[in-house]
Amino acid sequence: MSTLQANCPSCAGPIEFKAGSTIVVVCPFCRSAISRTDRALEDLGKVAEIADSQSPLKLGLKGTFNGNKFELTGRAQLRHELGGFWDEWYATFSNGWVGWLAEAQGKFYLTFYQPLPEGSVLPSFNGLQLGQNVAEIPNPTPLMVQEKGRGTFAAAEGEIPYKLEPGEKFEYADLAGKNNAFATIDYSMDPPWVFLATQVTLAEIGLGDAKPVEREARRISTAAMGCPKCGGPPQLLAGHNRTRYLSKL
Ligand SMILES: [Zn+2]
Ligand SMILES: [Zn+2]
Repeated sequence: MSTLQANCPSCAGPIEFKAGSTIVVVCPFCRSAISRTDRALEDLGKVAEIADSQSPLKLGLKGTFNGNKFELTGRAQLRHELGGFWDEWYATFSNGWVGWLAEAQGKFYLTFYQPLPEGSVLPSFNGLQLGQNVAEIPNPTPLMVQEKGRGTFAAAEGEIPYKLEPGEKFEYADLAGKNNAFATIDYSMDPPWVFLATQVTLAEIGLGDAKPVEREARRISTAAMGCPKCGGPPQLLAGHNRTRYLSKL
């Protein structure tokens, strides 16, 4: 899909789907999550106001990863079932990639959809055990389940590369391995999707000027901060989920 200018079906304010990968735009005037399909716009309901997470990141920041330029075009705040929340920032690349940038305990992770080898079947969410190695995920070192959880889509702003339904819950598992390897399994997809993360510094991805913020008054709960990687896993890769979601509509 290409750039689309439209009027918010809820408040009639001007909204714009700039990136081809954008599925949902959060109306800057009324906070309605507006999704687009080939035929029409759909009002998915209002998201909550973004809470101050004291992140150094903000929409519109531009960076590079492995020589590819990106811009932070959207952000979601996911509520952890233990009460905290975390941010996910969506990076739209000029070459068409979509990634997400998450922060956990002061470290940043850039994450991309990872297709599984043909025939691979992941354990079900209920069947997954903490501490279990998930050999189905292609990675040089084994990835072990660190956390299983449920998140809720609470707040969002900007352009979102998947169909974010305000208030919807999703199940995920976070995994870690040697050499700072991290992965997330997104059980809101069927079959579940895997996302592999690379730990990055903001300087490495061209965001070194983003202002670190004093974190003393951090509002994230201790429970959420205790997660090895409090990064819930929305479904990201644009082309895939566009097809999927369109077929769902
Ligand atoms: Zn609106
Ligand atoms: Zn968590």
